[in-house]
Amino acid sequence: MSLPVTDVQRDLIDLVRRFVSTEIVPLEFELDPDESELSAPVLERLTTKTKQMGLYNIDVPEEFGGAGLDTVTRTLLAMEMSQHRAGLYAPCYAAFGQPDMGQLYDGTDEQKERYLYPVLRAEKKSFFALTEPSGGSDPARAIQTRAKRDGSDWIINGNKTFISGADTADFGLVFARTGDQESGRSGITCFIVDADTPGFTVRRVIHTLRSGHCPTELTFEDVRVPAAAVLGEVGQGFALATERLTKNRIPYAAGCLGVAMKAHRMAVEYAGTRSVFGSTLAEHEGIQWMLVDNEIDLRSATLITLDAAERADSGQPFRTEVALAKIVATEAAGRVVDRAIQIHGGYGVTKDLPLERWYRELRIRRIGEGSTETQKMIVSRDLLRGRYRGLLDR
Ligand SMILES: Cc1cc2nc3c(=O)[nH]c(=O)nc-3n(C[C@H](O)[C@H](O)[C@H](O)COP(=O)(O)OP(=O)(O)OC[C@H]3O[C@@H](n4cnc5c(N)ncnc54)[C@H](O)[C@@H]3O)c2cc1C
Repeated sequence: MSLPVTDVQRDLIDLVRRFVSTEIVPLEFELDPDESELSAPVLERLTTKTKQMGLYNIDVPEEFGGAGLDTVTRTLLAMEMSQHRAGLYAPCYAAFGQPDMGQLYDGTDEQKERYLYPVLRAEKKSFFALTEPSGGSDPARAIQTRAKRDGSDWIINGNKTFISGADTADFGLVFARTGDQESGRSGITCFIVDADTPGFTVRRVIHTLRSGHCPTELTFEDVRVPAAAVLGEVGQGFALATERLTKNRIPYAAGCLGVAMKAHRMAVEYAGTRSVFGSTLAEHEGIQWMLVDNEIDLRSATLITLDAAERADSGQPFRTEVALAKIVATEAAGRVVDRAIQIHGGYGVTKDLPLERWYRELRIRRIGEGSTETQKMIVSRDLLRGRYRGLLDR
């Protein structure tokens, strides 16, 4: 069985691979090893190139001026775009456009003019605020931030935590409870909140294993927003959040595999040249087995991730396949980078190589965007509720 890669996809893979190796990797020799952003002129030079390639705003549908790629192609390119030091959380330093804020495609024309198009033109930055101190795994029950009607306005009160990039954002999507606490997912509404709205505060930046784009803690104290700030329907915010989150988990998984593929190639190369006990590392069985384990992890996780992408494109249910991909890719990538570090010995943990950054940042990926445990809950529900679809049963 070979990977279902078309000629067009192969050309795009080659194009992005060349871009990473000729434009991004050389830049990183000059940057701080923990850098996540480029200066405006350098980024502009790079985006001019990605626009010429027809790949700017890579996550965006064609009707909004984006590349309009199918999920399989997007997944293959995500595996290439992450193959550099900052690649996990800043793939190509956003030269291919900002991360997807697809919820805004469902906005009104006014909301698109004010928020979506400025984001697509890289004039505005946004944040996505679902998680609260009461817990992120089960937001439908945990959300305590409340929005109450006051005339035609809404007044928002509450706290959010672990919200990435809110300290530098112009606005955010804020999920608040508009039904009672028992209303679950049907009682949650999404509001667009401008960062300069009185009562909105970024209380602190939370430092984590990640090098940049820090998460933050937010407070909402009598934040007044107009009815026009509701994105979608009142009470439909949870569906709005989760539909996009599910699909985004596929390129998210693929990005993990990209850095792991690069780490694996580095380990194979290093093992072939480094001498220990009179022969190269590669001639020792203990090292060979680590490399084989990497190969097994990468091949199986890549196939499972592409399977999820293909399901998403085929219009069939894909939640279970995405959950499997998210689990397998994030866990496998962590193991592969760990073994690559072991093979590099002391050099593996220095900032001279990208391995230590990937090792730190990959650890977050088993928690963010739906932890391994919550993804297992999704898969087990299908297994136990008679919705089992084995690969050969479809
Ligand atoms: C760096 C970083 C950036 C983030 N950025 C954002 C952001 O931009 N926006 C946003 O909204 N959120 C963001 N998050 C939050 C992230 O989505 C949550 O951390 C995640 O959903 C887990 O929620 P929690 O941390 O509250 O853990 P909890 O929900 O308290 O869970 C604790 C642990 O228990 C496990 N667990 C939960 N339920 C079960 C179960 N039934 N069985 C077994 N184990 C279980 C979980 O997997 C987890 O390991 C970010 C988090 C981090 C670390």
